[in-house]
Amino acid sequence: MTSLPSTDTTALLPETAFGPDAVPVAGDRRRHPAPAHLVFFHGPMDCGKSTLALQVDHNQSRQGRHGLLLTQGDRSGNPQISSRVGLRQDAVELTGHIDVRLLVRDRWAAGHRVDYLIVDEAQFLTRDQVGQLAELVDESHVDVYAFGLTTDFRTRLFEGTARLFELADDVQRVQVEVLCWCGLPGLLNARVAGNAMVREGATVVVADTGPAEPGAGADDGAPVRYQVLCRRHHARGQLGPTPTGPGQLALP
Ligand SMILES: [Zn+2]
Repeated sequence: MTSLPSTDTTALLPETAFGPDAVPVAGDRRRHPAPAHLVFFHGPMDCGKSTLALQVDHNQSRQGRHGLLLTQGDRSGNPQISSRVGLRQDAVELTGHIDVRLLVRDRWAAGHRVDYLIVDEAQFLTRDQVGQLAELVDESHVDVYAFGLTTDFRTRLFEGTARLFELADDVQRVQVEVLCWCGLPGLLNARVAGNAMVREGATVVVADTGPAEPGAGADDGAPVRYQVLCRRHHARGQLGPTPTGPGQLALP
């Protein structure tokens, strides 16, 4: 693994006590290197992660900082971070083969500033990519804001999520906006084929914008969808009286 070349000769100066609320723009950062941060926001489907991602981008850019938006699993050919409240921003598609450090270095080489990264669908990051993000934070003073699902439909942490739990400076559960049909906060994602909950199958596509893949659980060809449930109803496999309620998007 190669390190990014650092041209920051001030990196060895004593650090000033910058708090996360006093983030200088990049030009100032090189003179007064403040510690950057790796922050991870996580939650179930529909909890507003992408909306928050776009809000963070908006707040950062208003301070004159330049961001790079990354997402995964977008198959539209025109990658975007989009939220259900209608906001959207173009993004760069990040596959598991991409070294995020090289991606950022290429942007710098092309004359673009990158002061921070917004990483949506961060649950799909590989462990190595999370390590690359941490290196960008520590060695290049790039702030990283990652947003992703907590657990898959089997209630197990995603790979990228687990590694972010291990490495992030700050881990925050997104305020839950989605409720189980019973009214309790929805915390877990259920995979549903037909009208039955599925507990086995590949992790594959959990993003509700993606098509179901073969082996995802719809052996009989029934459409696969995802539904957010509270822990008790996830354990019982009870989908509630209205299986087509809000927040339950059918997969194509
Ligand atoms: Zn419930």
